[in-house]
Amino acid sequence: MTATPHFDRVALIGIGLINSSIARLINRDGLAASMVCCARRQETLDEARTLELCDDYTTDPAEAVRGADLVVLGVPVGAIKSVAEAMQGGLQAGAIVTDVGSVKATVINDLKTVLPAGVHFVPGHPVAGTEHSGPGAGFAELFDGRWCILTPEEATDEAAVEKVRAFWAHAGMRVDLMDAKHHDQVLAITSHLPHLIAYNIVGTAHDLETVTEREVIKYSAGGFRDFTRIAASDPVMWRDVFLNNREAVLEMLGRFSEDLASLQRAIRWSDGDALEELFTRTREIRRSLIEAKQA
Ligand code: NAP
Repeated sequence: MTATPHFDRVALIGIGLINSSIARLINRDGLAASMVCCARRQETLDEARTLELCDDYTTDPAEAVRGADLVVLGVPVGAIKSVAEAMQGGLQAGAIVTDVGSVKATVINDLKTVLPAGVHFVPGHPVAGTEHSGPGAGFAELFDGRWCILTPEEATDEAAVEKVRAFWAHAGMRVDLMDAKHHDQVLAITSHLPHLIAYNIVGTAHDLETVTEREVIKYSAGGFRDFTRIAASDPVMWRDVFLNNREAVLEMLGRFSEDLASLQRAIRWSDGDALEELFTRTREIRRSLIEAKQA
C-alpha cells in the first residue's frame, strides 16, 4: 500500500468544481499543513472563503505559489499558459506543478517554455466531473472510483510523478499513465465528441420551428433530457477543450459523420437488420460499462 501523500503547502490556482473538490479532500484527510487558493475574480475568492476551503486567498498567482511544494492548475485549458506565466516568479525550486485540464498535448507544449528549471511538471486529468462550476459545486468524493490519467514526459522526475499518483490514488482514483497525444484521442471520443453532440442536439431542438420549446421541455424524458444535462456544462471550459484538441476532435467527428450517414441510409432504405445489429452492439457496451462500475 502507498503511504498517504502529504504536502507542506498546496496552492490551488483556480477554485472551481475540480480544485474546490481537491480542497475539500485535502481538508477532510489532512493532506497539507496549509493551503492557499487563487482566483481571477474577488467574488469567487469570497465564496471560497465563506466555504472555508483554504487558509489563504489571493488573486495574485505569484503570491499564491510562494512556498508551495504542490501547485494544482485548475483553470480552463486556454487560460493555463497565462496563469503559469503570472505565477512563474513565485515558484520555488523542487515544487511539483500539476494540472487537471481536459486536454494534455497543448498544455504540455504551453508550459514547457514557461515553467522554470527545477520545477517538476506532472500533467494530469482526473476523469471525473459534473455539469456544475464554481467553488460551491465541489465535493471530496467527486474522484472516488473514477480514473485519473497522468501524461508525464520521459524526462519527468519519477518521485514527482509518484507523489501525484499517490495523491490521486488516495482520492479513490485508479491511475493510468499514457502519452499526451493518446490521451487527447481517447478523450476526444469518450468525452469531447459526446459533449459536442449534446450541445448540437439541444441547439437544434431550440431552433426548431415545427416543435415548440414548451413541447421539447414537456416531452424531454424521451431522451432529450440526458443531453440537456451534458449541454449545461461550462461554456468557457468547453470552448477551450475544442480549441485545444482540434485535431483529435475533427478526426473523431469525421468518423462519426460517416457512421451517421450510414444510419441515415439504413433508415431511408428500411434496413432494419442494420439498425438492430448496431443497437444490439451498443447495448453490450452499456452493459460492460455497468460491470466496470463506470455507470
Ligand atoms: P470552474 O468550476 O469553471 O472553475 C474555473 C476556475 O478557473 C475559477 O476559479 C475561475 O476563477 C478560474 N479562471 C477561469 N478563467 C480564468 C482565467 N482566464 N485566468 C485565471 N483564472 C481563471 O472549472 P472546473 O470545472 O473546475 O475546470 C477546471 C479545469 O478542470 C479545466 O481545465 C477543465 O478542463 C478541467 N476538468 C473539468 C472537469 C469538469 O467536469 N468540470 C472534469 C475534469 C477536468 P474566477 O471564478 O475568478 O473567474
